[in-house]
Amino acid sequence: MIDDTHETRLAVELFRLGARLQVTRAETTLPRERLIRLYKESHGESPPKGRLPASTDWYVTWLPNIHASLYYALYEFAAQQSGVSRITATMTAYRLYLEHLSDHAAPVLSFTRAWMLVNFVEHGVLHRVTCAQCHGRFVARAHAFDRNYVCGLCRPPARTGKTARAATSAGHRV
Ligand SMILES: [Zn+2]
Repeated sequence: MIDDTHETRLAVELFRLGARLQVTRAETTLPRERLIRLYKESHGESPPKGRLPASTDWYVTWLPNIHASLYYALYEFAAQQSGVSRITATMTAYRLYLEHLSDHAAPVLSFTRAWMLVNFVEHGVLHRVTCAQCHGRFVARAHAFDRNYVCGLCRPPARTGKTARAATSAGHRV
């Protein structure tokens, strides 16, 4: 019998963080049926159907962009630790993200979105640019006009009001 204890543990951990079934299919070699069973054990219900959102649009809208940028800074930090695999860094950074937000704002970035963000950056679909005003690094489209980029914290949309201030207190700690 193949020893898949490690993969089972990984899948359970991923589901606990809120991963969709597709994430565990990509990160483990466990059979689909097995993963569905593990999902049901974690959540008490069947995994949602449907594909993962393939578009990068979400990441460049105002509030998601601030959360995605914060997450990616934490991911980079986690990934720097020696001998850490990409998936471990992705999970560590997500826990840090939740901790970081706990007193300030509700999480906007789901684990699955975080995992996809790491993939998007790795494949060059998204990258990070430095804000010309605050010098923070923010997630942007790979072909965005980078020079004189101004982030969503330095230039919040007019009608965000309270949400803007809440996100600002979290985002400035990137
Ligand atoms: Zn800025």
